[in-house]
Amino acid sequence: MGKERVLNLRTPGPTPCPPQVLEALSTQMINHRGPQFTSLHKNLSQRLKKYFQTKNDILLLTGSGSYGWEAALVNTLSPKDQVLAVSVGFFGDRFAQVATAFNLNVHNLNFQWGKAASPDMIEDYLKKHKKIKAVLVTHNETSTGITNPLKEIAQVAKIYDKLLLVDAVSSLSCIDLKTDEWDCDVVFSAVQKGWMVPPGLFLTSISQKAWDAYKTSKLPKFVFDFQFAKENLMAGYTPFTPPVSLFFALEKALDLMDDEGMENIFYRHLRTGGMVRAQVENLGLELFADKNFASNTVTAVKTPKGVHPKKMISLMREEGVELAGGQGKIADQVFRIGHMGYFRQLDIDNVFYTLKKVLKKL
Ligand SMILES: *Cc1c(COP(=O)(O)O)cnc(C)c1O
Repeated sequence: MGKERVLNLRTPGPTPCPPQVLEALSTQMINHRGPQFTSLHKNLSQRLKKYFQTKNDILLLTGSGSYGWEAALVNTLSPKDQVLAVSVGFFGDRFAQVATAFNLNVHNLNFQWGKAASPDMIEDYLKKHKKIKAVLVTHNETSTGITNPLKEIAQVAKIYDKLLLVDAVSSLSCIDLKTDEWDCDVVFSAVQKGWMVPPGLFLTSISQKAWDAYKTSKLPKFVFDFQFAKENLMAGYTPFTPPVSLFFALEKALDLMDDEGMENIFYRHLRTGGMVRAQVENLGLELFADKNFASNTVTAVKTPKGVHPKKMISLMREEGVELAGGQGKIADQVFRIGHMGYFRQLDIDNVFYTLKKVLKKL
């Protein structure tokens, strides 16, 4: 395997990287405490604000998306604090599990998998439980292919003066998320999803309200300490050795994204999401997610009766298309097609051409 893609990688992360990003990855190392890295780091932190649609500080920390859950919680909350974990699938459940692991008092508000969260029900819950401090929510639920109505959820959180912690791992950079306008306090994403960069960095936006919460938060923190990271960023350092190569890669990815234009990127995902869903139905297959809230970065598809997703995925793999299986309780029911970040129309057409072929075989 060389630098060329040998497969049509259509998993919802890691996603393929453009050749220019792969090339940037092979840049020689630099001193992470020298002036070159300092300016690269500060520059990326500034440039990311555009995609987060925020004036907030953006931190670049080492880790995958899951580390974002932990970072968001330990920097804003104290043991036994009450939080409302809104979940519509596997990743929402995980966010709640992390909160439980950190000794928070978790209220679970679970919605049926395949459906979106209801802002009205969240409001009812917050009305009845005044001691809740924070609302935990997934913007784009990657396991079911649902995009939650974040704007409306954020409005409710604001009315009840709750801190809003948003998992935007598989949405940010591909799906519109107005961090400031919607008043989202902590928003995090991971570079291997929509950002066209290999795994290993997660990006976090922190509002003033979240910084205020930081001051009173007593959960133990060290590696993900926001204040420590911010002080280092201001001084031109990182607290620990950063994944230098990923900084080079992200710089190149942002160049490509700036060239395409943020609105055009959103539109490409919107158009592709709609097209993927139409093609799935054209093949006589059933979509898992409620179409009114269907995600434009990932689509979960029910396998035909009697066909296990594993079988489907292995047949597709033989034909050069790598799809993802289902997660959690729907692992036996669905397969997923990723359409986030770097893809061309050709890659998507190829998925359906191959699916048709595989379905015939079945
Ligand atoms: C992928 C994903 C995560 C977890 O990220 P890892 O990078 O696998 O740790 C969390 N939330 C959502 C919505 C995701 O799609």
